[in-house]
Amino acid sequence: MIRKWQLLTPLLLAAMLAGCTAQQQTENTLKKDIPAVATTETTISVPTSSPAAVTPMPEASPVLEEEVPAAKLYQMNKVFRFVPIEESAPKDVVLLTFDDGPHNETVLTSILDTLDKHKAKAIFFVNGYRVKQNPELLKLIDERGQAVGNHSWDHIDLKKETKAVVEKQIGDVQKDVDALIGKKPLFFRPPYGSGGDLVKETAKNHGMLFMTWSNGSLDWDKSAKNKPEVVIQNVLEQLHPGANILMHELEWTADALDELLTALENKGYGFINPASIALDS
Ligand SMILES: [Zn+2]
Repeated sequence: MIRKWQLLTPLLLAAMLAGCTAQQQTENTLKKDIPAVATTETTISVPTSSPAAVTPMPEASPVLEEEVPAAKLYQMNKVFRFVPIEESAPKDVVLLTFDDGPHNETVLTSILDTLDKHKAKAIFFVNGYRVKQNPELLKLIDERGQAVGNHSWDHIDLKKETKAVVEKQIGDVQKDVDALIGKKPLFFRPPYGSGGDLVKETAKNHGMLFMTWSNGSLDWDKSAKNKPEVVIQNVLEQLHPGANILMHELEWTADALDELLTALENKGYGFINPASIALDS
């Protein structure tokens, strides 16, 4: 009996080692396959001896997918309207923008939900002082897949300011947004649409596309206060192909949004994905 066990033990050990090695190989294979969805099937079908076969597929990873730059379909013209770069892109489109946030979670969440419902992307032009007060709301905009734009730190009239002040008003927002979401804004809109050559140059130096708007909803005006129907009417009256629509993070704008986007869709309009805008417009 003793002799039998003595014979068996090395065999068992060998079997166990072989098992460990197999296990190890499977793990290695799985590691190489990350971030592809690792199923037993892929593990088995991928020979470890062939490095080409285990190249991770970017389309299998949502994280990598976001990093793939979107095709540039639109460029902005001198009056801040968007035109297709190639004829294949539809010209009946609008850019949706929401300024002066982030500051009201209820309003912001409502806007984000409505955008999702219509599969629409927008730019949220934020002010630095509000980002400082509500960093979690800034993160929310990014997490929900929407673009963050720079609207200066204090919402002051930059045209009246010195070079040093303009640089700080713009640069500090870039810095803080980058620290919170790991990317800097690519779009700049000056408060009150007021910006001269100095402001334009500073925005450009920070890698941003400078824009005002071409369709003001007047949602900020007292004539629209608590009146979603006025916001809708104002936008539709000024509607044109490539419209750059200015709205704000306001309760009545959030209340108007679903109906407004539906009306735009019914007129055959689509929504420009900010990622598809050429930044050298
Ligand atoms: Zn503003």
